[in-house]
Amino acid sequence: MIIDGKKEAEIIRNEIKKEISDLKSKTSKIPSLTVILIGDYVPSQIYVKNKEKSAQEVGIKSKILKYQKKISEKEILAKINELNKDKDTSGILVQLPLPEHINKEKIINAIHPKKDVDGFNPVNVGNLSSGYKSIVPCTPLGCLLLIKKVEKNLSGKHAVIIGRSNLNGKPMAQLLLKENCTVTIVHSKTKNLQNECLKADILVAAVGVPNLVKKNWVKDDAIVIDVGINKVGKEIVGDVNFDELKDKIKAITPVPGGVGPMTIACLLKNTLECFKAHQL
Ligand code: NAP
Repeated sequence: MIIDGKKEAEIIRNEIKKEISDLKSKTSKIPSLTVILIGDYVPSQIYVKNKEKSAQEVGIKSKILKYQKKISEKEILAKINELNKDKDTSGILVQLPLPEHINKEKIINAIHPKKDVDGFNPVNVGNLSSGYKSIVPCTPLGCLLLIKKVEKNLSGKHAVIIGRSNLNGKPMAQLLLKENCTVTIVHSKTKNLQNECLKADILVAAVGVPNLVKKNWVKDDAIVIDVGINKVGKEIVGDVNFDELKDKIKAITPVPGGVGPMTIACLLKNTLECFKAHQL
């Protein structure tokens, strides 16, 4: 089975659109998302544009605040502080990566946890790892929704996650633990990666190494979620060798068209949740 992330994301976007439209008729209010973009890194500009377009399509008011690369950390912190207090702002997102002179940790910490639609603020990270209600980072949330399209009950499954980033690997592990999976995280220092991957009922690859996961790394009944986005020549490929695995295993996400569209859909979902929790 090839898991169609585009289709699943469209279903989620339509649900969000309907809910926003209903809330608007009842309350005359709509959610709003402010994205801070610093510098002229082209991929970030594309991501931000896509986020804005998707937000507008579902009825979320979206604003991009663009700053030159040389802007000071102090000015960005002041802007975040202003948005934290702004009654009309549901969600704040600072597009990463940041220029070197701006401290990522300070910026993430400055976003109010209630408006932290990326789920990166330590309060949300802590809530997630404590099993409490929290805003969950968009990509791992999207991965979980795709896994659950294939298998509703994940209890007792062995999940192996390749990658331990704060963005993907670690929150993915927390989400799968919450689903009662037995979770293994592997990374660049893991010995015998292949052996670890072969234990997986669910394998999530969030690495950034093209085609790292090969046919003989995965059990036949495994569900494989490929988070990787890697440019090879003119092509975009994942961390999993899709062609080798697609006819062999239970389910797999393609790249592109798998996790990517779900990430944006989950950003819209998080923005709506922030709005409902604090502005209605
Ligand atoms: P990251 O911060 O660079 O983390 C990569 C992780 O992979 C690290 O934990 C690293 O181990 C591990 N790793 C690297 N090489 C390895 C190897 N040869 N064997 C085993 N583990 C290895 O990356 P990220 O931000 O999580 O992103 C991962 C990939 O997902 C990238 O391709 C990125 O573009 C993509 N991505 C996609 C989406 C989406 O929406 N689809 C969203 C975000 C990111 P160490 O910790 O030991 O260094």
